[in-house]
Amino acid sequence: MNFELTEQQKMLADAAREVARRFPPEYWRRKEERGEVGEEFLREIGERGFMGIVVPEEYGGLGLGMTELLIVMEELAANGCGMGGAWYLILTEVFGALTIVRHGTEGQKRKYLPRLARGEMEFCMALTEPEAGTNTLATKTRALKGGGEWVINGSKIFISGADRAGGMLIVARTAPREREKAHGISLFLADLPNEAVRISPIPKHGINYSETCEVQIDNLRLPEDALIPPLHGGWYILLDTLNAERMSFTAAAIGTARLAINKAVEYSKQRRVFEDPIGSYQGLQFPLAEAFATLECARLMNFKASWLFDREAHRLEVGAAANMAKAVAVEAGIKAVYWAMQIFGGYGYAKEMDLERWWREINLLRLAPVTQQMALNFIAEHVLGMPKSYRT
Ligand SMILES: Cc1cc2nc3c(=O)[nH]c(=O)nc-3n(C[C@H](O)[C@H](O)[C@H](O)COP(=O)(O)OP(=O)(O)OC[C@H]3O[C@@H](n4cnc5c(N)ncnc54)[C@H](O)[C@@H]3O)c2cc1C
Repeated sequence: MNFELTEQQKMLADAAREVARRFPPEYWRRKEERGEVGEEFLREIGERGFMGIVVPEEYGGLGLGMTELLIVMEELAANGCGMGGAWYLILTEVFGALTIVRHGTEGQKRKYLPRLARGEMEFCMALTEPEAGTNTLATKTRALKGGGEWVINGSKIFISGADRAGGMLIVARTAPREREKAHGISLFLADLPNEAVRISPIPKHGINYSETCEVQIDNLRLPEDALIPPLHGGWYILLDTLNAERMSFTAAAIGTARLAINKAVEYSKQRRVFEDPIGSYQGLQFPLAEAFATLECARLMNFKASWLFDREAHRLEVGAAANMAKAVAVEAGIKAVYWAMQIFGGYGYAKEMDLERWWREINLLRLAPVTQQMALNFIAEHVLGMPKSYRT
């Protein structure tokens, strides 16, 4: 067992910290207030090669793995960017590049990967539906084949980045939900914009430097080669993307929590209300210390998940580690940001301290990418071997 980062991983972490210092909390505060995308940040991470960390060198990427991507996401988040440090990388690199690297055809790889790796194209994933939220196998979006092309119809909801993306990963049914429920789901790559895809942003609580959208798909015609093989077997390959998404949000939660903890620790050493600095009170130390310790444990588990993923271990094995890390990191991260706000007293409520923004950001992770309840359901069923508690 070796817990040391490689020289290359250390260099990537240094590079991420350097980028984060150029995009400090004020940058994200301003972007959020104006509802603007972090264009300058996107350009910078594209130029640095961060959008192509998992893309093989022959397609213009760095040829590294999920572990390296997590290191970069966490360091960006922890050193100033908060959730913004991981958000755009998840949309484009995890939903787009990683899915195509793992399962795309040679033609799909040549078409998308070089542009994605250079940061010249953004991506999004259209999985969630109004009537099939957590129960993703109830997907109603249909893809029918006729005349040498696919025709797709359906409604999707909460699709982040759809308003700007040049490409969309669409999850659709290609065969009815019969025998085995996971059978009959297929994945497609669509180029955007397309007049058959109507996109309407949904005003939301946080992360307003990116839109999350309702997507209506009416007779979207795609060429035959837009299908990511195998036909009807998309659910199993999508699990790779969803596991990677979970690990990424865990890294984002840990990074955002570290950012809030560091800010609170500094403040607590200066702020005197009574005789001594407030940082000397155990009532404030214990919850931060406990949250920090839990985050460190979750971090190790998340790296175990990425280590398994990079070795192409079985998806259930990766999923077990990824769900355990996610469930723990999110609660500890929320606790950390809560106590950081508390340490700032009334100032914690002021926008200029950034804590209220990180609070809104980190709370998303109880709901997405997978709810805490569904992460625990996974652990109960697939790790502990308990009976499935719900009917699909
Ligand atoms: C800001 C934001 C961005 C998002 N971005 C994307 C995106 O880019 N692409 C995409 O496809 N989706 C995206 N999502 C969707 C997100 O993944 C879903 O919202 C999430 O999976 C939950 O689905 P739901 O909202 O339909 O909740 P529901 O499925 O309706 O669940 C409601 C509640 O019931 C609980 N519940 C349901 N079933 C069970 C059970 N069996 N046991 C215990 N509890 C249960 C859930 O845990 C939850 O608390 C995004 C969501 C948000 C809020």
